[in-house]
Amino acid sequence: MITLALSKGRIFDETVPLLARAGITPLEDPETSRKLIIGTSEAGLRIVVVRASDVPTYVQYGAADLGVAGKDVLIEHGGNGLYQPLDLGIARCRLCVAAPAGFDYAAAVRRGARLRVATKYLTASREHFAAKGVHVDLIKLYGSMELAPLAGLADAIVDLVSSGGTLRANHLVEVEEIAKISSRLIVNQAALKTKREELMPLIERMEGAVAA
Ligand code: ATP
Ligand code: MG
Repeated sequence: MITLALSKGRIFDETVPLLARAGITPLEDPETSRKLIIGTSEAGLRIVVVRASDVPTYVQYGAADLGVAGKDVLIEHGGNGLYQPLDLGIARCRLCVAAPAGFDYAAAVRRGARLRVATKYLTASREHFAAKGVHVDLIKLYGSMELAPLAGLADAIVDLVSSGGTLRANHLVEVEEIAKISSRLIVNQAALKTKREELMPLIERMEGAVAA
């Protein structure tokens, strides 16, 4: 049995068409079924439904052989025990620094000011600001980063942006791009050896689905 870890919402919705092109159909919709283990049209393949940020953990420990995870989540996880053989090109967005429209971020950086930055993405943020030599106090949040500058919690945020609509609605502007984000197929490193005969054809079918 091969187990694929997927998160509900965007990742599930955008992975389903790729699976379909690879000839695979999930037997239930996690939005309506409440089941956390879902069969597929393939007897030897099942899906486990987990939080987006838990996908790399399930795959790292071999509880899932494969998974689909955003590059953002993989940066934070660190990638231990994982192969990342395939960029699926789905759930595309950017990891950005954003600040209130009235805050001169570039000037604050030139002055060498110490900035308070709220984010869920501590690792990516630490690396970005260290590389730029910007002094920051990072404040860990779990959601609604856009609120932090408005409420006076932080000078800036690091968050995912796609259309920019949420930023605009909260009078924030993107001031730096940290990374382009899309979702990757991830594979447990040990499983790729022990279950190679089952996993390699599946990875190749996904590769074909992405190319199509
Ligand atoms: P939760 O909502 O359960 O706290 P989450 O916010 O990480 O978790 P999603 O919102 O489903 O879960 O995001 C899953 C992945 O989709 C992210 O890790 C990222 O790679 C990608 N993503 C997030 N926001 C966007 C966006 N606005 N546009 C495109 N892709 C996005
Ligand atoms: Mg979300």
